[in-house]
Order: sequence, then C-alpha cells, then structure tokens
Amino acid sequence: MATLIHDTTIVTVDDADTVHHDASIAIEGGRIAAIGANDALRARFPDAERIDGRNRMVMPGFANIHTHLGMTLARGIFEDLSPPHAPPFCGGLSPLPLPPLSREETGVMVQLGALEALRSGTTALLEDGAGIAGYAGLLETTGLRLLLAERAWDRAKAGIGDPGPFEVSERLGDEGMERIARLHAEWNGKAGGRIKVGVAAWAPDMCTPGMLKRLRGLQQSLDCVCTVHLNQIWGEVAAVQAHRGMLPTEYLHAEGFVSDRMVAAHCRCMAHREERLLGQARARVSFNSAIAARRGLSPRIQVLEAEGCTIGMGTDNMAEDMVEVMRTGLFMERIRREDGRSPTPEHALRWATRNGYAAMEVPDGGWLAQGNRADLIMVRTDRAHLVPRMRPVSGFVHQGQAADVVDVMVDGAWLMRDGRVLSMDEEVIVAEADRIARRAWAKMFADNPGLEVPRGFAPPA
Ligand SMILES: [Zn+2]
Repeated sequence: MATLIHDTTIVTVDDADTVHHDASIAIEGGRIAAIGANDALRARFPDAERIDGRNRMVMPGFANIHTHLGMTLARGIFEDLSPPHAPPFCGGLSPLPLPPLSREETGVMVQLGALEALRSGTTALLEDGAGIAGYAGLLETTGLRLLLAERAWDRAKAGIGDPGPFEVSERLGDEGMERIARLHAEWNGKAGGRIKVGVAAWAPDMCTPGMLKRLRGLQQSLDCVCTVHLNQIWGEVAAVQAHRGMLPTEYLHAEGFVSDRMVAAHCRCMAHREERLLGQARARVSFNSAIAARRGLSPRIQVLEAEGCTIGMGTDNMAEDMVEVMRTGLFMERIRREDGRSPTPEHALRWATRNGYAAMEVPDGGWLAQGNRADLIMVRTDRAHLVPRMRPVSGFVHQGQAADVVDVMVDGAWLMRDGRVLSMDEEVIVAEADRIARRAWAKMFADNPGLEVPRGFAPPA
C-alpha cells in the first residue's frame, strides 16, 4: 500500500538543492513513487494512506559513516580524556581502559547507540568494530541501513598513537581476516540488501604492510567498501614515521590500500601531500566534526574536497547525534576558513545525507527523488527555535535539534512515528544501559585503585 505525505515541505538535496513548499510525496514498495503538487498526487494515489504533513518537513535521513555504537559505554568519560597532541606520545585514545562487558551487555550499549542514532534522524550507518557478529542480529532489528565494517590489525600490545616498538602478531592478523570473511558470509546482503559488510583496517600504525595488502586483497575479492582511521592524532603520525619512515596516508598509498572505495575517517593531522593523495584516488572522507572539536583537532575539509574527496560525516565515539555533527561541521569549517558564508547550510546538509549515502555505495539514497529509496525523516517545524519558516534548510542546520525529528523511515518502513520508536524497546534499553555502564565503571575503579576517577563521577545508583 502506498503512503502519501501531503501539504508539507520537502527538502530533496537533489542536484539543484530543490525545496518543494506545500507539496506531497508518495512512497510505494520502499521507493519514492512521486513528488509533486498536492492535488495531482492525491488524484494519482487515491487509496494511499494519507499523512498530514503540515507543520512538518520531509528530508532525507542522515548517513553516519563512522561510528562505534558500543562506545556509548564511555559516554561522559572519554570526551575529556584525549591523548596529547605533542610528544611524549603515550598510545591509545584515552588514559582509561574501557571496562569489560559481557556479550549481552555490549548488545544493550549498541542498542542505546542505535536508539540515539534513530532519534537524531539517522537512516544509514557505517559501524566500525571488532566482533560485530556478536551484535549484528540486534542491529538488524533496528531497521537501520547498515554497512558493517569488521576491523583487523596485526600489532600487539599497543594502541593507536604509540611510536614505541611495533610487535607483530600474526595470530591477531589471521583472526581479524577470519572475522571479516565470516561476517561477510553471514550478513552481506541480508534484510533485503539493507545490510552490507565491509573491511576495516584499524589504523596505519596498527597494521604491517603485509596486513594492509591482505586486507586490500580481501576487499577486492569480496567486492566491498573498506574503511580506516587515518591521520587521527599526532601520535599516529609520529608512530608511522618511526616505523615506516613516511606519513600515514603515504604509507597506505605505498601499500596500495588507498582507493576510490575507501572511507578514510578523521584525516585531521595531515600534510597537504597526503590530502592530495586522497583526492587523486577519489577517496571518501568521514568528517567527524563533533569528536574533532572535542579533541581540539580539525581536518581541512575545504582542501580535501577541492582535491577530489567526497566528504561525508560521522559521529565516531560516545554520541550518535547527526544533527549536532552537521552543525558542528558547518561551524568548524567557517572558523577554519574565516568565512561566515562558507560552507552553506545546503552544503553541510549534503555532507550529512547524500554524500554519506554515496560513501556507503547507496547512490539512490540520501536524497529525495522519484525512484530513490524511501529513507527519509520528518521534522516538526512548529517549534519556537524553528520559526519563522522561510528558509527551511538554513533554519534546521543552524537551529534544529535531534528532538525535532519525529518520524524516521528506511526502505519505506517506519522505524519511528510521531516521536515513538517502533523498532526497539526504548524504555528498557535506556534503563538497562544506564545500569550496565554505571556498574561496569564503578567496578573497574574499585578493582584498579591506581586509576584516576574522573571529576564528578557518581557512584552506582
Ligand atoms: Zn573511530
């Protein structure tokens, strides 16, 4: 049965950034059947379920092309514990370890992240993780469009950003390769093609040349997207220089890992010749603006884009709010460019929607046009912070909030309607996640009295 959203504002993110005012959009069989005048579409789809779109705006959903859903466990703690930007570099992205969780507990934290993603209007998501098979089933039930990128590496006893000795572990490398192959065999193409599986190299300073070659070979044989954390922190740059005698992107390029099917996350601590290498390869870049701002580091998006990269956006750790990411990206780039007019809100919206879909190799998603996938959101616009409604895109990019998103649809199926999440039990997940995380952190600090407890840390309830 068709669905007709009528008398509404439709933000398309098409080539001309068309916005339809007081129009209708028809959805049928998981696709957008038509966009047009209210009367015409009412006549064309007389039996459609009608949804009153007044005081609503229909937009493409957001694509979060770099996240780790289970890192919601570190929310409120890791945001303020970034590694140093100058030597001595210590390795790792936080001075505190993550407390261990059971598989079931991890699943709850992953669902918490997926809930926040949905609530902020995310319809497509690239999850980078080690051991995704442990929660892929839970992710399937969220209804989100997914690219699951299982991670591999072969450096032992070190984390990202450690210029110390590189201890190779063939076992780690083999296990990673097997996890990717197994996840791909089990999940690629599942849920009517809504789920795809890709390859992730952890980071340049966590992989030997041999590991990078194996991963690139696997990517080619599986015919899939690959991703990598790249030029994330200055410690990583120092480590690759110490181990390989070159810069991180040069190292990946020398080993044949850089391609037009690679999603490079971060790209912050980069020389211009590295930005040029990525652009020449037509690589995709995940601009993780909110975590970048938290770390006090920012990529040169204008340069990367001018060199030829496709810019998408991601949340990375702890938060899944793409509305915040989109606005932070616009703000950070305006500061970097010292230009209060560039990028435009339309440009930032494109990064967060259509470009992200393109990076996930879903070219007919992330923008609204006849025949495209029905991955869309509805935003309530009769809010104090969103009126007057003269320029809907600018209004939402500059003033919108995740809570304005009231409806989410993926492949023509509603995942949230009128502010209620349909695909997950929100109340149970939120309560459970709070209990699990509080208990896990309190236990870790109790078991390790040498660890410094962050200021303001509350004991378990
Ligand atoms: Zn990351």
